[in-house]
Amino acid sequence: MNNQKSKQAFLEAKKIIPGGVNSPVRAFKGVGGDPLFIEKGKGSRVWDIDGNQYVDFVASWGPLILGHAREEIVEAVQTIAATGTSFGAPTLLENKMAGLITSMVPSIDKVRMVNSGTEATMSALRLARGVTGKNKVVKFAGCFHGHGDSFLIKAGSGALTLGLPDSPGVTHSSAKDTLTAYYNDFKSIEELFSSYGDDIAAVIVEPVPGNMGVILPDEGFLEKLRDITTQAGSILIFDEVITGFRVAPGGAQDKFAVTPDITTLGKIIGGGLPVGAYGGKKEIMDHLAPEGPVYQAGTLSGNPLAMSAGIAMLTTLKKSPAIYSKIDNLASHLESGLKKALDDTGVDGVINRIGSMLTLFFTSHKEVRLNNQVSSIDTERYAQYFHGLLKRGIYIAPSAFESIFISDAHTSEDVEHMVEMSRAVFTEMSEGALS
Ligand SMILES: *Cc1c(COP(=O)(O)O)cnc(C)c1O
Repeated sequence: MNNQKSKQAFLEAKKIIPGGVNSPVRAFKGVGGDPLFIEKGKGSRVWDIDGNQYVDFVASWGPLILGHAREEIVEAVQTIAATGTSFGAPTLLENKMAGLITSMVPSIDKVRMVNSGTEATMSALRLARGVTGKNKVVKFAGCFHGHGDSFLIKAGSGALTLGLPDSPGVTHSSAKDTLTAYYNDFKSIEELFSSYGDDIAAVIVEPVPGNMGVILPDEGFLEKLRDITTQAGSILIFDEVITGFRVAPGGAQDKFAVTPDITTLGKIIGGGLPVGAYGGKKEIMDHLAPEGPVYQAGTLSGNPLAMSAGIAMLTTLKKSPAIYSKIDNLASHLESGLKKALDDTGVDGVINRIGSMLTLFFTSHKEVRLNNQVSSIDTERYAQYFHGLLKRGIYIAPSAFESIFISDAHTSEDVEHMVEMSRAVFTEMSEGALS
């Protein structure tokens, strides 16, 4: 694989962009080597600037559920771009977008558009604090909610220890209002509520975590979160930036029939453009300015370009529910193919899957459902897997704590190819050819 042009471009980028990238995980630090510079994508494929072609399972980290450069979206964006890209005044496109979201996501009566998932979660938390008059937020270790100060907090040694800033620049006073619990460990939540319950404004959770790899909720876990927050008068926020329109048209809340108070969205709703949104019950959303006192605003929020891409995306998903059975089936075939290849080669691994998203964890554990199981996975093995696939023309996330995403553009040949190439890498692993 020749990647001279990408290597050169990365050297140049590092002189003028911090770390050479506009989002850290792109830099390949988790797997070693230099990132590929992508020139174009179409369907299930991407091409780098050296002309190498890859079957892409990253899908821009989730948004591209219809594949790259899907006609409906390209056409919508081109048409709207010609009529102006931003006015800072209401447009009919915003009504249409809000209508689609409220019709597809059961718990959302009203929705506010923003420009990224980060903005959505930050704003949702402010709204929760504004509505409840309480200060603290509970988040789960390993769940990612963008880069807002309140969410960049590391867990202390026990659930009851106050948080520590995870990044320089986050103050101790923001950290002290963030409490950390452990996913699928309901006791950790009960302890926090018994100590701080009066002051917990919100519990925020990825209902199905995708940012520590895919973790499935234990039976009843989400229901119990619903109950304890209701009892304490706290807001339950489902961060469905990944799972929204991915695990079902109505997101994880639809699939598991648990109703949050506020939902945050991003990724898929932007159709590949920068978009986020947060929405919920009318009584909560009406606390936002100009209706209510909680302030939040945005010059480019709801801009025509992003709305047209999002509308094309959601309209396509809404009118073709068969897309979900297709991609879920492909992902199920990928799961069983990878399992068999692991078994046949004797490589240890666990695969977690929900619908069209799945993670292969290299681990000798029999299951991965708790934080300590996630943190003991073999990241070096993952790096070998990543590079083994890359040189065979397959692009997966350059980090072990991510998901493989299947899109409507993938074919059963793509999946078969992925299984066979994975088998080849596992065989090298088991023969000790990679070390
Ligand atoms: C990606 C992601 C975010 C952040 O969204 P950005 O658009 O990258 O700011 C927030 N929450 C979850 C669950 C995500 O996966």
